[in-house]
Amino acid sequence: MERIALVTGGTRGIGAAIARRLARDGYKVAAIYHGNGAAAEAFRQETGIRVYRWDVSDFDACGAGAAAVARDLGGDIDILVNNAGITRDVMLHKMSPTQWNEVIASDLTSCFNMCRAVIAAMRDKGYGRIVNISSVNGQRGQLGQTNYAAAKAGMLGLTKALALESAARGITVNAVAPGYIATDMVAAMPDEVLQKIRAQIPVARLGRPDEVARIVQFLVSEEAGFITGSTFSANGGQYMG
Ligand code: NDP
Repeated sequence: MERIALVTGGTRGIGAAIARRLARDGYKVAAIYHGNGAAAEAFRQETGIRVYRWDVSDFDACGAGAAAVARDLGGDIDILVNNAGITRDVMLHKMSPTQWNEVIASDLTSCFNMCRAVIAAMRDKGYGRIVNISSVNGQRGQLGQTNYAAAKAGMLGLTKALALESAARGITVNAVAPGYIATDMVAAMPDEVLQKIRAQIPVARLGRPDEVARIVQFLVSEEAGFITGSTFSANGGQYMG
C-alpha cells in the first residue's frame, strides 16, 4: 500500500531531507512551505515531490491544505511530520509580544493545527504516524530563546498527550529533538555564537539534515508501532537529559 506523507517545512533543511527520504522509500509525499517560493520550486524540480504553500500557523489554511493534499494524492494522510519552525531570538527583557507570538504560532500552534487536520481520518482508519520535530533547546533551554524553548517544550507535552489519546487507534505520536544541524536556520546565527556552540558538541561538528531524517524514516515505518510518546535526541552528545 502506498502511504501518504505530509511534511511541513518540507522544502528546505531538515524537512527537505525527510521528504526526500520518504519519497525514496515509496511514500507519496507532500512538502509544505510558507514564503520561499524559489527554494520550493527548485526542490520540486529536483525531486519531483509535490509542494504546497500555506501558513501552518493558520488553522483554517491547515484544514484546507490537508484536504487538498488528500484529494491530490488520492487518500487520507497516513503520516504527518510537523517540522516547520522559525526562530526570533532575543533576550526576554527585550522580546516583543510579536516575537513571542510568532514563534508560538509557527512552532507550536502549527502542531495543533496540523494534527487537528489529520487526526479524525487517522482515527477512522485505525492507522497513523505523527512525528513532531522539537529541539534540544526545548529540552534544556537556551538564552535568547524563551519563545522557541517554550514552543519546542510544548511540542513534547503535546506529543505525549496525543500519544495517549491515539494509542488504541493504531496511531503513534513521537518527537525528535535535534541538536544543531547545518541548515539555513543555523547559518543565520552569528559566527562567534556558532563557534561557541560547536565547542559544546562532543562529536565536534554540526549534525546533518539526513541524520534527523533517518530517525523519522524509522518512526513512520509500520515496524515502529510499539513506539509512542517518545522523544529521540540527535545532538552529538550535547545534551543527555
Ligand atoms: P529552515 O529554516 O531551514 O526551514 C524551515 C522550513 O519551514 C522551510 O521550508 C519554511 O518554509 C517552513 N516554514 C516556516 N514557517 C512556516 C509556516 N508558518 N508555514 C509553513 N511553512 C513554514 O529550518 P530547519 O530545517 O533548520 O529546521 C526545521 C525544524 O527543525 C524547525 O522546526 C526547527 O525549529 C527544528 N530544529 C532545527 C535545528 C537546527 O539546528 N537547524 C535544531 C533543532 C530543531 P519557507 O522555505 O517558505 O520559508
